[in-house]
Amino acid sequence: MTKFSDLKLDARVLQAVAEAGYETPTPIQAGAIPPALEGRDVLGIAQTGTGKTASFVLPMITLLGRGRARARMPRSLVLAPTRELAAQVAENFDKYARLTKLTKALLIGGVSFGEQDKLIDRGVDVLIATPGRLLDHFERGKLLLTGVQIMVVDEADRMLDMGFIPDIERIFQLTPFTRQTLFFSATMAPEIERITNTFLHTPAKIEVARQATTSETIEQRLIEFAPTRKDQTAKQKRELLRAVIEAEGEACTNAILFCNRKTEVDILAKSLKAHGFNASPIHGDLDQRQRMQTLDGFRDGSLRFLVASDVAARGLDIPAVSHVFNFDVPSHAEDYVHRIGRTGRAGRKGVAVTIATPSDKKYLDAIEALVKNALPRTEAPEGFSLSEASQRPARKDDERAKPRRRDEGKKDRRDRPVKPHGEEASFAPMDVPPQVVAEAAPAPEPKPSRRREPRERVPETVTAEAAETRTEPRRDRRDDRRQGREERSREDRNREDRGRNSGGREDRVVGMGDHMPDFLTRSFRTPADSDQE
Ligand code: AMP
Repeated sequence: MTKFSDLKLDARVLQAVAEAGYETPTPIQAGAIPPALEGRDVLGIAQTGTGKTASFVLPMITLLGRGRARARMPRSLVLAPTRELAAQVAENFDKYARLTKLTKALLIGGVSFGEQDKLIDRGVDVLIATPGRLLDHFERGKLLLTGVQIMVVDEADRMLDMGFIPDIERIFQLTPFTRQTLFFSATMAPEIERITNTFLHTPAKIEVARQATTSETIEQRLIEFAPTRKDQTAKQKRELLRAVIEAEGEACTNAILFCNRKTEVDILAKSLKAHGFNASPIHGDLDQRQRMQTLDGFRDGSLRFLVASDVAARGLDIPAVSHVFNFDVPSHAEDYVHRIGRTGRAGRKGVAVTIATPSDKKYLDAIEALVKNALPRTEAPEGFSLSEASQRPARKDDERAKPRRRDEGKKDRRDRPVKPHGEEASFAPMDVPPQVVAEAAPAPEPKPSRRREPRERVPETVTAEAAETRTEPRRDRRDDRRQGREERSREDRNREDRGRNSGGREDRVVGMGDHMPDFLTRSFRTPADSDQE
């Protein structure tokens, strides 16, 4: 078996690798490092978790060991689709280049241009960036890409999902034709194939097996749950989830809880917090500082429950997660594999629990077809019963009327024993703020709409971006928009559809409270309008 010492890596790199505790290269490392060190282009088909970051960082450090950086002309460039992934590459670079004098800069949204400019001005050996932010710098005339000798594209398939491919092509064209390219993607979609055919020169192709879909170290469980009221589905699922977490007790050291939509991520995190669980949300609409803080907290163990959307969590390297909870069955079967793959890593044991309602049948069938197995069914925890509040109609006014004790649910559940039978009903009757409960209710039957378009909406995504315009220049927000786009395309489309079906009732006029005079909702139509409908 190949050892790191067999690879012709710089002695300082080898020492840093040894100090990191790694002796044997992973298959992608053993395959990619030798041709990369020979100066060849590399096409690596590998997912996160395979050790692919080190497979390009280690040879890069070795190759850049000689030579010096020139002002504004980075010698190498790593492109990653999201800020978190770019930051992860930067961490790897810090770890393995510790004993060298190489310099790096991280260009991601949410960090001021000024600081980044200063670093670039001084000259850097490695520039790690998201494509949008890199082009922003380039267009401001602060950066020259003609000195790039090595260019890495990481997670190209996600770049494709997020609409970055035109940017990548442009960046390729801004770098010298003679550069060396190291290109990584988990899958080879036709568009990715086209890019590699255009920009890579006789690459060494290394393909490592996809992560086992049903890793033996992951214990999968499915709880089939039939809500007693459709309009209280989310609330009842939250009660069930809390009971499941509590039943796991100490075995659940930390967990990622997945929801399908960003709004649900926020609701669930808020609800768990209100019930004393140490939980925080992560999704594309939160600002960079918040996301980093949340992730750091989760990594260092000060945060126990990370409530996440698929896009925010994919690709993140969080080594020790004891549990994954699928609060929602993912609507894309592949996401199930990605989600449960967050636990049971590196030989550790993991548990993945999925809550499915009858309306999830279609998605569940797709998942079971993909993993070629029926997910093992399991019962709700012994003694679990729904609270009375969750079985009443989800009426806003009902919820609001409930008085709420200040200290309710504040105690950290880590210190609480698992509750005996029937106590669930004594939980705080309002586990989310009223407007949130209202959102969980299903849309009423679509009424024939008098309007062609719903009223102007203020979706959360726009609100979050609008907040950023105050502190950052317009083009600086491109990364954020792109980062959120994948999530929006999936999640917000649903919400928009709901809005439309409900005749735009979700589009509340800000500042009007609950009561909106009816004439405000009426549209003024001309006969010409009617003809067009
Ligand atoms: P990546 O696929 O680059 O996100 O890496 C996944 C995880 O594998 C990271 O936590 C790395 O620190 C770890 N890792 C990288 N190389 C090795 C190796 N040769 N042996 C064991 N673990 C590794």
